[in-house]
Amino acid sequence: MNKLSANSWEHRDMDNVFHGFTDLGTLKSNGPVVLTHGEGIHVFDVHGKSYMDANSGLWNNVAGFNHQGLIDTICTQARRFPGYHAFFGRIADTTVALSEKLVEVSPFAEGKVYYTNSGSEANDTMVKMLWMLHRRNGQPQRRKIITRLNAYHGVTAVSASMTGKAYNAEFGLPLPGFLHADCPHYWRFGLEGESELEFSQRLARNLEELIIKEGPDTIAGMFAEPVMGAGGVIPPSEGYFEAIRPILRKYDIPFIADEVICGFGRTGEMWGSGKYNMEPDAIIASKCITAGYFPMGAIILGKDLSDELARVSEQAEEFPHGFTAGGNPLGSAIALKALEVLEEEGLLENVNRVSPRFMERLHKLGEHKYAGEARGVGLMGAVELVADKSTKEALPGDLQISERIANKALEKGLICRPLGAAIVLGPPFIVTTEQIDEMFDILEETMSDVFADVGL
Ligand SMILES: *Cc1c(COP(=O)(O)O)cnc(C)c1O
Repeated sequence: MNKLSANSWEHRDMDNVFHGFTDLGTLKSNGPVVLTHGEGIHVFDVHGKSYMDANSGLWNNVAGFNHQGLIDTICTQARRFPGYHAFFGRIADTTVALSEKLVEVSPFAEGKVYYTNSGSEANDTMVKMLWMLHRRNGQPQRRKIITRLNAYHGVTAVSASMTGKAYNAEFGLPLPGFLHADCPHYWRFGLEGESELEFSQRLARNLEELIIKEGPDTIAGMFAEPVMGAGGVIPPSEGYFEAIRPILRKYDIPFIADEVICGFGRTGEMWGSGKYNMEPDAIIASKCITAGYFPMGAIILGKDLSDELARVSEQAEEFPHGFTAGGNPLGSAIALKALEVLEEEGLLENVNRVSPRFMERLHKLGEHKYAGEARGVGLMGAVELVADKSTKEALPGDLQISERIANKALEKGLICRPLGAAIVLGPPFIVTTEQIDEMFDILEETMSDVFADVGL
């Protein structure tokens, strides 16, 4: 960092950019990575150095960083109709076509789509939909939202309140009425002698107790990610959703699947909620919806919820909510093309073709002396580092082991993500088995180097 001149990109960044979700110690010592372009699953910095991005940007650049079909679609739509809103009953034709397609690929036979610019806004909007619905249905007290500890649902005041992470205490969040149920991570929270199914059943009993204690008629809805992403890639414990679903039905609690990471193929199926039998009433989508080439979030409402919302909105004359750029035709054209690429260019097929190799290498990494658990599904995986495999005792926090590994990997030209004590991987859907091998080879070498560096 110090060797770089004052007018370097890095210095200009440090002088002018305020970074979020960035370890400021690392930023200060190593400087930012300023990028110019990408090719396939690689990105290039201003010095020409290439990095394999094993995180698809932020889970979303699933078609790589220079997909020609997507780029051509952007250019064509930009010439045709680059921008319009979706207020006052006006809308771009492309956005109508996308809505039709999203309902078609959704688990719902019929439904409706509502557009936002991000996953956070989509979760926030869904909460407002539920609040309005219950209010108009004579249950204004039905306002509490249930999510899970370690869940990630976004960063707006409401979606951050839904997020079950300790850092939100920095903002005095969660807001009142946002409840966090247990995290379905068997390896971490399973009791001595408890089977995985018993664990799931215990969590379901706890959820019912929480609902009864709070008052079932005070709960507006429950939201869950099929696989927890930013919580460290945590697939649900066996039988978990099958155990909680009947309880939510029993108390008439709408169930929303936050598919922002899992949606559009990450788990190997179109929807994570399908893979894990969630049977949601609505789906929250974002990230991969445009393959990371445009900001977009969407709520796909199943028929029951969309009918009810239409009815109460008519009573109120309108659903008084909307984002200026929501339903933008450029984004819609990109999303339509991204779905075509996923379904017709064999992207989803490739996820299933290379996933066995990805999981094999992940589990091999899990044999490392300091790897407590290697877990994942499809093309998402994590390896969690511990001081002791059998007791699962954590490594000292001040070692910042995952941060060290990610920084060292970056030097070696691999982008991976430290999340707590875990290293998280989620490569683009175009990744090849050779690239998967290269990715894990670099990571294995990096881990050896780092554990040697810290004297372990
Ligand atoms: C990323 C993410 C969000 C938030 O999406 P943004 O577009 O960053 O606002 C919400 N839910 C899940 C599961 C996510 O992974």
